[in-house]
Amino acid sequence: MNLSFNRRSFLYILLLMIIFSCSKFSNLSNINTMPNTENKNPFFSTTDTTQIDISNTEWKKILSPELYAIAREASTERPMSGKYNDFDEIGEYYCAVCGNHLFRSTAKFSSSCGWPSFFEADKNGVKYRKDISHGMDRIEVLCKRCNSHLGHVFNDGPKPTGVRFCMNSISLHFEPKN
Ligand SMILES: [Zn+2]
Repeated sequence: MNLSFNRRSFLYILLLMIIFSCSKFSNLSNINTMPNTENKNPFFSTTDTTQIDISNTEWKKILSPELYAIAREASTERPMSGKYNDFDEIGEYYCAVCGNHLFRSTAKFSSSCGWPSFFEADKNGVKYRKDISHGMDRIEVLCKRCNSHLGHVFNDGPKPTGVRFCMNSISLHFEPKN
């Protein structure tokens, strides 16, 4: 009696495990175009343009610690350390927090500053704020959809715009052009 109950329980648990692993697999197939850090981010979308206004307490539960520190606390990644610093593939760059479109690879240029640099941003993708932190007078660049910190913009870029968007790689999600 006891033995058959255990056996039934075992089969039941086995069935649950199979169902769970199948549903997990199908979920993964839906989000395989997202970077690892956004696998559990319900706000990430490269097509939805709805404004996102949620608290940092919520973001902290969703984002990786590295992305949270830069996007929500305006930290800066170490120079030369980012995966898009020395990177010239053709495609589009999106906000790593929410998926909002930010830059085209055709506006990226090789800069010696140590961070991925662009001479032009999607005007619907970014917004600006004066930043006088760390004893400097700079212009901070933020995502227009989710208000996350992306980097700064300077007036020493190449033609045709003369500006340099100095971005954190961690704040960017790249999708290659097919
Ligand atoms: Zn964003």
